[in-house]
Amino acid sequence: MRRFATSLILPIDPNRTGECLRCGACCEFLFKCPFLRTVDGQPDSYSCSAYSLRPPQCRKYPRTRAEQIHLPCGYRFDGPP
Ligand code: SF4
Repeated sequence: MRRFATSLILPIDPNRTGECLRCGACCEFLFKCPFLRTVDGQPDSYSCSAYSLRPPQCRKYPRTRAEQIHLPCGYRFDGPP
């Protein structure tokens, strides 16, 4: 809920670096997103079938270190916690 609310108005932490590894972990939190698809049938590589229309909480995840609850993740935050 917090992730949803903060992503509507707050920017991504400028200390975030890295890139998405398409593990799909953040798309299966609480429930598996119905738009989640495997890439070429590979069980460890995912894509979003609604990518261009995805909501801010997906678009910005992980917005901050505090909101990054799925590890390992391709994104990381430099600087002090
Ligand atoms: S947990 Fe990180 S690496 Fe995995 S799909 Fe989400 S953003 Fe990408």
